[in-house]
Amino acid sequence: MGLESNTRQPDPDCIFCKIVKGEIPSKFLLETEDLVAFNDISPQAPTHVLIIPRQHVKDISKFSSNQEDKTLLGTLFQQAAELALKLNLESGFRLVVNTGDDGGQTVHHLHLHLIGGRQMTWPPG
Ligand code: AMP
Ligand code: ZN
Repeated sequence: MGLESNTRQPDPDCIFCKIVKGEIPSKFLLETEDLVAFNDISPQAPTHVLIIPRQHVKDISKFSSNQEDKTLLGTLFQQAAELALKLNLESGFRLVVNTGDDGGQTVHHLHLHLIGGRQMTWPPG
């Protein structure tokens, strides 16, 4: 369910798939079987890391209720939180998942923004 438009194959035109495959060189802060993390090219705070699944999943709405998807989503958040602590963000951080055009998503390969190192404001723009 919900997976029809999500082939999960690498998209040759996707910049994040290219990063996963090493076609665009990037220094990984974290690398597991399921995900990689690297610094955002245009940081919005002293710490701004992107955590992405290796699989090309367009956005969070493409996840289904199957166990594999639930585990992957849980892993993304758990690893993001663990990385935040490794990066000394004990005093707080923000995880952001922009989704779709109205959500401000510009790269259509799911990613968690891990942002920290300064006081965040609310509401976001
Ligand atoms: P979003 O607007 O939520 O889709 O976020 C996409 C993010 O990807 C933006 O914060 C960009 O700065 C970042 N970005 C785009 N290209 C690269 C790249 N080659 N390496 C690292 N970050 C990138
Ligand atoms: Zn991709």
